[in-house]
Amino acid sequence: MDIIQVPGKDSFLAKVRTATRRLEPKLRVSWAWSPEEQVFVLKFANNTGMTSIAPSGRDRITSVLRRRLSTFFVRSLTAKPDQGKVFQVTTSSNFPNHFLRTGRSTRFCDWRFVHRARLGVLPLNACRRWETNGDKRCQKCGYQQETIPHVLAHCGVHSAARQRRHNNVQDRLVKAASRCPGVIRVNQTMEGVAGEAGTLRPDIVVRDEVNRTITIVDVAVPFENGKIEFAAARARKFEKYGPLATQLAASGYTVRLDAFIVGSLGGWDHHNDSLQQHLRVGRYYAGMMRKFLVSDTVRWSRDIYVEHVSGRRQYQ
Ligand SMILES: [Zn+2]
Repeated sequence: MDIIQVPGKDSFLAKVRTATRRLEPKLRVSWAWSPEEQVFVLKFANNTGMTSIAPSGRDRITSVLRRRLSTFFVRSLTAKPDQGKVFQVTTSSNFPNHFLRTGRSTRFCDWRFVHRARLGVLPLNACRRWETNGDKRCQKCGYQQETIPHVLAHCGVHSAARQRRHNNVQDRLVKAASRCPGVIRVNQTMEGVAGEAGTLRPDIVVRDEVNRTITIVDVAVPFENGKIEFAAARARKFEKYGPLATQLAASGYTVRLDAFIVGSLGGWDHHNDSLQQHLRVGRYYAGMMRKFLVSDTVRWSRDIYVEHVSGRRQYQ
């Protein structure tokens, strides 16, 4: 049990005491008068069990209360069966939520879209939980379940927009890799590769003949169906391009085969970080690029969704 002591006559902390009283069950804290110290103390349990801490001021109290409230809301959100999968991915780093405080690089319409999409409450035929017997089929292609993953990742009507969303990620990565030694080729077959592997067209290939190295990268924008979906998307890329990498390695090249994955609702795969380093993307630019990619992808997904329900083209 941690105990933070608070001077009883401090008006700021008196207000904090009043404000947090109704939140005590959520925060699992309690205020108590300490007769020995003649002060109010904030009590709460932590991982280390029963401990007491000397008076440490307002900053510590504010920090503890904020952290415990944040933990409470994240736990209650991720415990919900429908919302846990998306939030498992979008809360794994700060980048998918970079726009929350500032709105940077994000249109207001994207802001309105992304929260409802991540919560799974967009009005689609298979998302009406109060109407169990209604028609759940996709209004565009007739697929049996019109869900958010279907619209953003599978509905055939939007394949052109999805290709543009994918190309946007690819183009940003190509631009960022300009300092990487070697020649960059986009969406082309590779010379000197026999058989079926010779017909494959990886999104990005960086070929450095001086150092005899080849980097093969394929981009994917899956729906955030839990971390397992990101791992599956990565595995599919390795399975597809594995034979190509094997042939090139047999020819004497040092080959790196990798996937670059950004979720359709702004989820960020932490494996992308090491690929950015490998492609010599500067640290500062890499951070900016992650934020731009998250915002761009959310914008494309919003445009796909709005076109799906309104029938109006949202992009030029
Ligand atoms: Zn459809």
